[in-house]
Amino acid sequence: MSTPADAFLNLLREQVGAQRVIVDAEPMAPYLQEQRRIYQGQALAVVQPATTAEVAAVVRLCAAHQVPVVPQGGNTGVCGGGVPLDARAVVLSTERLTRIRHLDADNLTLTAEAGCILAHLQDAAQAAGCFFPLSLGGEGSCRIGGNLSTNAGGINVLRYGNARELMLGLEVVLPDGEIWDGLRALRKDNTGYALRHLFVGAEGTLGIITAAVLRLFPYPQHRETAFVAVPSPEAALRVLQRMQRCTADLLNAFELISRPGLDIGMKNLPGSREPFGERHPWYVLVEASASADIGLKAMMDKGLAQSLDCGDVLDAVVATSESQRSQLWRLREIHAGGHQWQEGGLIKHDIAVPVSQTPRMIERGTRAAQAACPGVRVIAFGHMGDGNIHFNLVQPVGEPAQDFMARREALNRIVHDIVDELGGSVSAEHGIGLLRMQEMARYKSDAELALMWRIKQALDPLGLMNPGKVLPPAAGPGPATGGPGCP
Ligand SMILES: Cc1cc2nc3c(=O)[nH]c(=O)nc-3n(C[C@H](O)[C@H](O)[C@H](O)COP(=O)(O)OP(=O)(O)OC[C@H]3O[C@@H](n4cnc5c(N)ncnc54)[C@H](O)[C@@H]3O)c2cc1C
Repeated sequence: MSTPADAFLNLLREQVGAQRVIVDAEPMAPYLQEQRRIYQGQALAVVQPATTAEVAAVVRLCAAHQVPVVPQGGNTGVCGGGVPLDARAVVLSTERLTRIRHLDADNLTLTAEAGCILAHLQDAAQAAGCFFPLSLGGEGSCRIGGNLSTNAGGINVLRYGNARELMLGLEVVLPDGEIWDGLRALRKDNTGYALRHLFVGAEGTLGIITAAVLRLFPYPQHRETAFVAVPSPEAALRVLQRMQRCTADLLNAFELISRPGLDIGMKNLPGSREPFGERHPWYVLVEASASADIGLKAMMDKGLAQSLDCGDVLDAVVATSESQRSQLWRLREIHAGGHQWQEGGLIKHDIAVPVSQTPRMIERGTRAAQAACPGVRVIAFGHMGDGNIHFNLVQPVGEPAQDFMARREALNRIVHDIVDELGGSVSAEHGIGLLRMQEMARYKSDAELALMWRIKQALDPLGLMNPGKVLPPAAGPGPATGGPGCP
């Protein structure tokens, strides 16, 4: 006997084709789990539309049948934002929206569909002699719609800003299925509310981004990359200021690297080598770039020499080839959580504080975490140049992982309270998803949460767009009801 859910699935098939509505457990499985495997999802189907019109038709159908919609790009998000929570939900994958619609090298803009993989956009820009600076660990599989929806950051934010700053216009399918064409390629546009910014960082709770106009830059032909040993985060902060001055503000990356993070990374990555003869407590990877030959090397050398003279730098190596540059970046990249998970329990924080407060944050956070959990290994690293520190806590050696993970909430509270006191944010670039909802309730003011809920209700009155994410339910009207087969 045919159920209302079957009838709904048939309507979906009419819109996108039978092959593009996945209902079998095995092919659906990768869409129901995020890569950290913290959350396990459930859904009625995964739908793969290929055009904006198909996305709109799917969303219209879902609205008519009160079916929750969970957009998904590359599913590399680390906060569980793309995990469907409701067995009646439809996962709307953007993986077939992969057209680059237009690249205007004279206007330095690129118009791309939401499912374009970030690395492909970087390549397309470079082929046209341009540069798309958004760059992050998951760039080989994350998709630009997901990058915009999480307002992704990465390694070049210091110079170029995060995903929001790299976006000039959007096309969005709204929760009722209407298409909003806001694909303007303008650097100036003061015509009322900047609606496009509502959808950036909204993690799919207000609509589905189907295409975007992105800012490009002249390709940086000249790069100087240095790996620098420093005695402390305070010294690193002074090096940052000095290097900014000496390179005439041309730094694009300033990444902090911690001794314990390097040790764990090197232990778990065969073939990696100590960067200097001597072990040092902290390092920074500094990179400056320019589109013309303006003597960047001399500028970097001057900044480093000054820093050596006053003891802020203990040792330094500047890459002399592209392969050396890659090796230096590898020392930064081995801090990715992958190696830290191999140590057992791992509690991650993606925090932002004013750049001037980064040393204080690291010092206070480390002291408090170690007092609460003796033996915990603190790995503070990341995008110091823009105040975004990944403050990871690795379990004490020998402790059962589950005992350490049982302290997660308490340790989160300790770290995030310090961040809050320093005027910071508990999510710098990863978003909220499911992982940080409790923190939203604790650290956002009632007025701010109420305003967010009013926006949500105005755009998505049925509460069908990625329900249960970002906004803590206590402050709002609660999840949507209904769905095919439900009263
Ligand atoms: C190894 C590794 C390194 C990483 N490094 C960084 C880093 O340095 N900086 C950083 O910021 N992040 C980093 N990330 C996290 C992740 O890559 C980013 O959050 C990325 O932007 C997610 O893109 P995605 O396409 O995978 O989105 P998904 O995971 O598919 O989705 C993320 C959220 O966006 C929503 N969404 C997806 N597409 C759309 C759409 N078209 N319209 C509306 N909503 C949508 C989803 O519902 C979900 O809430 C890293 C991840 C990994 C695995």
